[in-house]
Order: sequence, then C-alpha cells, then structure tokens
Amino acid sequence: MIKYHSKTKIVATIGPASASKSILKRMINEGVDVFRINFSHSTQKEFATLTSLIKELNVETGSHVAVLADLQGPKLRIGVIENNKADLKTGDMLSLVTKKCTGTRQQVYMSYQNFPKDVSVGESILIDDGKIKLEVVDTNKKDTVKTKVVFGGTLSSHKGVNLPDTSISLPCLTKEDISNAVFALKHGADWIALSFVRKADDVTELKELIRKYKGHAGVIAKIEKPEALKEIDQIIAFADGLMVARGDMGVEMPFDEVPLIQKHIIEKCIRHAKPVIVATQMMESMITNFSPTRAEATDVANAVLDGADALMLSGETSIGKFPVETIINMQKIIQYTETHGAPYSKINAPNESSPDYLADSVCYNASALAKQINAKAIVTFTHSGYTARQISANRPVTDIFVFTNIERLIRYLSLMWGVKVFYLKSYEKMEESIGESISILRTKKLLRRGDRVIHVGSSPLNEHGKTNILKVSLV
Ligand code: PEP
Repeated sequence: MIKYHSKTKIVATIGPASASKSILKRMINEGVDVFRINFSHSTQKEFATLTSLIKELNVETGSHVAVLADLQGPKLRIGVIENNKADLKTGDMLSLVTKKCTGTRQQVYMSYQNFPKDVSVGESILIDDGKIKLEVVDTNKKDTVKTKVVFGGTLSSHKGVNLPDTSISLPCLTKEDISNAVFALKHGADWIALSFVRKADDVTELKELIRKYKGHAGVIAKIEKPEALKEIDQIIAFADGLMVARGDMGVEMPFDEVPLIQKHIIEKCIRHAKPVIVATQMMESMITNFSPTRAEATDVANAVLDGADALMLSGETSIGKFPVETIINMQKIIQYTETHGAPYSKINAPNESSPDYLADSVCYNASALAKQINAKAIVTFTHSGYTARQISANRPVTDIFVFTNIERLIRYLSLMWGVKVFYLKSYEKMEESIGESISILRTKKLLRRGDRVIHVGSSPLNEHGKTNILKVSLV
C-alpha cells in the first residue's frame, strides 16, 4: 500500500550511499517521488542497473516513482593534479593549458579546447564551486591562458570550472549527452534534465532528439547561467519543466541574487503551469549529520511556501551518511509547512489569447469551485497529463486525483505538485468512469460518504479532446 505524503514532491539523487535495493525501497516508503541519476557521476551501465531496480521496486511497493536522467552538459573541468593536491596561494601565477598534462602549482589542464580563444584579460575563473578564484592576465589565443590567483585554496583532480564572465562557444548538448540521452530513453527515463541551458533552442534540440528516438521523456531545463535568465519566458514555454540549479547558479551569478531568482522562476513556472524543482544544498549538512540545520529547515519551508513542485536532494542522498533520514526529515518539514503555512491558491487565471483558453478556464474554475464548496477532491481523467498540470498549477488545497491508462504518464506526473495518479484500464464513458473513480478512491480510503467531489474531463472521453466538462458530486 502506498503511503500518501505531501503535496510538494521530493526528488532524490542516487549515488553510492543509496544505490542498493533496500535503501531505495526505504526511501520510496518515506516519500521519494522521483529518483535522479546524474550522468556527471554515473555510467550508462549504472544507469541501466538503477532503472531496472526502480522498476522492480515500483511493482513491489505499488509506487510510481519516476526516473530523472540528468545530463552533464558542457561542464568545464581541470585535469589530473599531481598527488591529487596543489596548494594555490593568493597572488600566485597559474597557467591553464589545453594540452593534456599532469597538473602542478604552476600549470593545469583545462578540458575546454576553445578556452584561450573565448576568454579575455580581466575575466574571472572559478574552480571547485567558486572556492578558488583566478583572474585572466594573458591568453595566447591558442593553447595557454595565464592567470593570477585572487583567492587561493587546494586544487584537486577534475574539479569543475565556471566562467561567469565568458561567453562559452560549446554546444549545450555535447556528444556524451546525446549518447546518454538516447541510452536513458531506451531504459525508460521519464524526465531528462539539460544542464547549462542558455537559450530556448537548447531545449528544442533535446526535444527533437527525444522525438527522433520516439521517446516520451519530458525535458527539464536547468537554470544556472545568466544567459538563461535573459530568455527565461521562452525557455519556460519550450521546456516541460525547470530546475532552479542553485549550485552552479550561485557560482555563475552573484550568490546574493539566488534567493530572488528562485522566487521569480517559481512564480513564472506556476503561471505557465510548468513544474519547477528547487535544487542543491537544501539539507546539505545531512551529508554528515543526522538532522538539518535550522537554516536548512527554513530553506526547505520557504521553497514549499513559494509553491515549488518539487525539492531536490543531491549529495545528501547520493554520498551522504543518512539518505533515508534525509527523506524523513524533509517530509517532516514539508508536511508541517503545508499543514500550518499557505502554499495554496496561487492565482492562475487563464490567458484569453491561449488556444487552450476554454480548457484552462474549466481547470481554473474547478479549483475555485473546490475552494468555495470545500470539496474533498478534484478528479480528472487524462491522456496527456494536460488537465492534471493545469489543475496542479492552481495549487488547490483540495486533493488532486488523476486517472489514466498510460503507465508512463503515471510516473511522469509524479513530479507535479499535489498530483496523485491512479491506473484506470478503460475510461470511455463519462458517467461510468466517474462512478468507477469514486469507488476506487473509496476503497483506498481517500474519499468517504458525504465528501464533495469535482470531476473534470473532456466529453466524449474516448475522443481525447480538450477539457470541457465539470461535474460536482456528493459521495
Ligand atoms: C546545480 O548546479 O545546482 C545542479 C543541480 O547541477 P549538478 O548537480 O548537476 O551540478
């Protein structure tokens, strides 16, 4: 029997700390909705093993946990460092070279071949999530960039590099990403996240690849570069969802801007009925401690109050000491905040110029009516997930129960705020399907005699048209 948890969903990254059947099962039982497998740290072989484990667990536990494949994108890295350690002092000179070499305090390899051409004197280079800062003093425009250390630290092998001032001439979807995306589609990924998105075309490119391979995965655009913010409306329009990727964002952009960027992106996504994930360092201290800091608890609660669809855990569940306890603690904060706070009733009035204006109006008014009559549930039947997404975007207090006979859609919708999805083999006739949905929900003790329920769907149901029906019933 599935336990029903919070409306705000949880995405947990799998890594060495959680990659066993028993841990994954406990994490599902405590309320994980989506597992993220990060190709920055996982091989295709590991991806295949993990996805088949998740499939097995979904059957065993009766859950519908989705798989989110995260593509590394054009992540820049330094090479190997001699003895895995090079101490850089403020004021030192360091050359970054594009010919492979073993790194020392004087010279390190940089994976980005066009770097000497793209970079200019005076630009900043940040290494290891911004822990080390360099400034470009010279480039030979061929293979060597000379830098001065602005803030020193200890360099170790393969650390990430961010170039906040440089316009990078690398494609968003690298050869490795394409290979990983195709592999992920073959192994049933429900969502694919694209890193370092700069423009809407980056999203379109991945969507075309998915179409070419006849996949169904939704595309999550990871927002972490300043260029993406300039095109945020178009990116939201083209992507199926967004991630506020605060890790790289806080290095690529001033960290003091991150909190408001998070709030603006969430607000825009809700307005466009696109799911949005808040990611990185939500419970970071739980990598080593059994409970979060007060500041982390507040961060989680604030993201819930902002109305995020989902909150993501990275190191906490992939390499941390307490992957299961992290889920338990995150659930506690989410549930308390949802019960005592107000992440509800976001105004999402339909847009009159949209081709879906009538359908969106039905969904909007279903949510408003649910509030007015204190309905226990809004129930929808869906073939595409559209109605579920629209209703969810209104963030009603009322439960949202969705019925579909498309297996992959059940997992896909797991990411969306408040949505609980059920399999219904056939839903051809409206009256019969309404009766059947009520009886299933009563069996699961999600509805009781006397509850008010609103059904939303398209009539005739078998024509898969746009939402045009709203019915109120008393159970
Ligand atoms: C981030 O930068 O916040 C993020 C989620 O990306 P990744 O974990 O892939 O670096």
